[in-house]
Amino acid sequence: MIRSGDKLKQVGFLGLGHMGGPMAANLARAGYQVLGFDLVPAALEQAQRDGVEVVGSATEAAAASVVITMLPSGKHVLDLYNGGLLSAAAPGTLFVDCSTIDVADARAAAELAVAAGHRALDAPVSGGVAGAAAGTLTFMVGGAEEDFTAALPLLEVMGKKVVHCGGAGVGQAAKICNNMVLAISMIGISEAFVLGEKLGLTHQAFYDVASTASAQCWSLTSYCPVPGPVPTSPANNDYQPGFATALMDKDLGLAANALQANGVDGQLGLLAKEIYHRFREDSGGGLDFSAIINDIRERSKS
Ligand code: NAD
Repeated sequence: MIRSGDKLKQVGFLGLGHMGGPMAANLARAGYQVLGFDLVPAALEQAQRDGVEVVGSATEAAAASVVITMLPSGKHVLDLYNGGLLSAAAPGTLFVDCSTIDVADARAAAELAVAAGHRALDAPVSGGVAGAAAGTLTFMVGGAEEDFTAALPLLEVMGKKVVHCGGAGVGQAAKICNNMVLAISMIGISEAFVLGEKLGLTHQAFYDVASTASAQCWSLTSYCPVPGPVPTSPANNDYQPGFATALMDKDLGLAANALQANGVDGQLGLLAKEIYHRFREDSGGGLDFSAIINDIRERSKS
């Protein structure tokens, strides 16, 4: 559906922050006419330097046949959808929300768009700011097959992997399920390192065993929370993010909402949320989420 030389080559982009800014820049670089809007003047100035055509309001960006949102929360998305964005768009406009939001909010947003005569996808991402800049994000997409197919060329400009996960909201479901496991596994690996320290087991020896044994997981072999065994992990760089604890806390809040709303006995997911929330409030919000090991070590002092 994205054809060159006409209006379908236009993309509206709302939310030009840490993620949306570089994503919109990649679209502009790939030849799309990107109509961008944000509330923050500095974001607009940067976007303009990156080739985005800055417009004066969100509704002006709805002149495009595809409107992407990359906003802080579900409330921001729903407020925009309810606040005139949907009514400003031509019938059949494809709304693609890439923000990380509640599954329930994603479904409500899709329902609003469809009720207004439009089409909608939820397409949250993983890969962080570095992935957004490099165009190597992973997109987890929920919505109708034909809308997924229509959005694919755009998403492939911004990402290296695009997975159609199911119907409305299921992209968000994939994102929060993945990050819930990630949090639980990072806490588990960190507890094991700290216990090993008490028992005289060196970090390297534990790594050498566990990295090829049944405790093997991404939190250990790609993102090891102690410096040394995996030189590229944030532990080797004073736990600079990477994936900040504040964002992990946000995603665990969304996972907890979904666990509770769906009656799932997700005790570890809920506990991981408590652990990360406390760490964020104490001092860890700006650190990489693997710095949870320092919190565990601190709390283990006898
Ligand atoms: P950010 O705060 O840097 O950017 C959000 C932008 O939305 C801001 O610039 C803000 O001014 C703008 N905005 C808010 N209301 C608006 C409105 N009504 N109209 C236009 N613009 C508006 O946040 P971010 O880090 O870019 O994250 C965006 C989303 O991506 C979040 O949902 C986040 O959870 C998700 N995410 C972030 C990362 C990451 O590493 N930062 C990774 C994966 C997913």
